[in-house]
Amino acid sequence: MKLKFLGTAAAEGVPAIFCSCQTCKSSGELGGRNIRKRSSLLLDDKIMFDFNDALTFVHQYQLDLSKLEHLVITHSHSDHFNIFDLEFKLRWYTNPGNPPLNIYANEKALSRFDLTPEFASWDKSKMELLQFHTVKRWQPFFIDQYKITPLAANHVTSYAGEETCIYVVEKDNKRFLYGLDSGFYPEETWEYLKSHYFHLMIFDSTLGLLDIKERTNHMSLAENVEVVEILRKSGSIDENSVLISTHFSHNGRVVYDLHEKTYKEHGLIMSYDGMEIVL
Ligand SMILES: [Zn+2]
Ligand SMILES: [Zn+2]
Ligand SMILES: [Zn+2]
Repeated sequence: MKLKFLGTAAAEGVPAIFCSCQTCKSSGELGGRNIRKRSSLLLDDKIMFDFNDALTFVHQYQLDLSKLEHLVITHSHSDHFNIFDLEFKLRWYTNPGNPPLNIYANEKALSRFDLTPEFASWDKSKMELLQFHTVKRWQPFFIDQYKITPLAANHVTSYAGEETCIYVVEKDNKRFLYGLDSGFYPEETWEYLKSHYFHLMIFDSTLGLLDIKERTNHMSLAENVEVVEILRKSGSIDENSVLISTHFSHNGRVVYDLHEKTYKEHGLIMSYDGMEIVL
């Protein structure tokens, strides 16, 4: 499996849209890997996880998303499910002959379409190009040869009772976790993680270097390290497992050039936009 990290920031980006804090200033001045767009992952040029800065990705990486058939969404937050740009998959905005886009998301996330007035004006006769699939925690589904299992996350949204999902992906005897925005895992997710071996794990590291005393909607580097220690003990990961931290907020005060080594000291790879890993 080939994983391409299209973007690696939290919702506001780094530098953030309306910010001039020291992290944003340093990141902007240093450029390169210090600049982060919103987090999204492309698997084997076939399945996209989370949908946000798609137009920028198409331009920057010269992606051909006209052929993209599968979009897997973690939750309703706009940096993971920018439903407005999906309108451009409809005819008139695109050209005929391309396959439909299958969208897999939890029930509350999909309800955004019905609750958004703009959606009412979309041409429903052309909606066959968007196919919606409701995902439920603990109910695996297949996309071709890929087995995808939605696990529970500790991540509250504006939709009461939304079941934010993180995903385990399995193919060719390899297994990885796509863990955005997980928070510190709930008990039932721990049970699953502790009883499976992972070749690669992607961790929510939104809070970066912050010293957080309480569990929140996201994890910090310290919490990533805590997770790694627990999973090493359970045998879920070992020295061969690839461990990646991503979804960085400027509020976590992480600058790639300054802090990549800090993550490395803990056995963690700090993601950057455009990073590719073959599993
Ligand atoms: Zn997010
Ligand atoms: Zn900032
Ligand atoms: Zn979120």
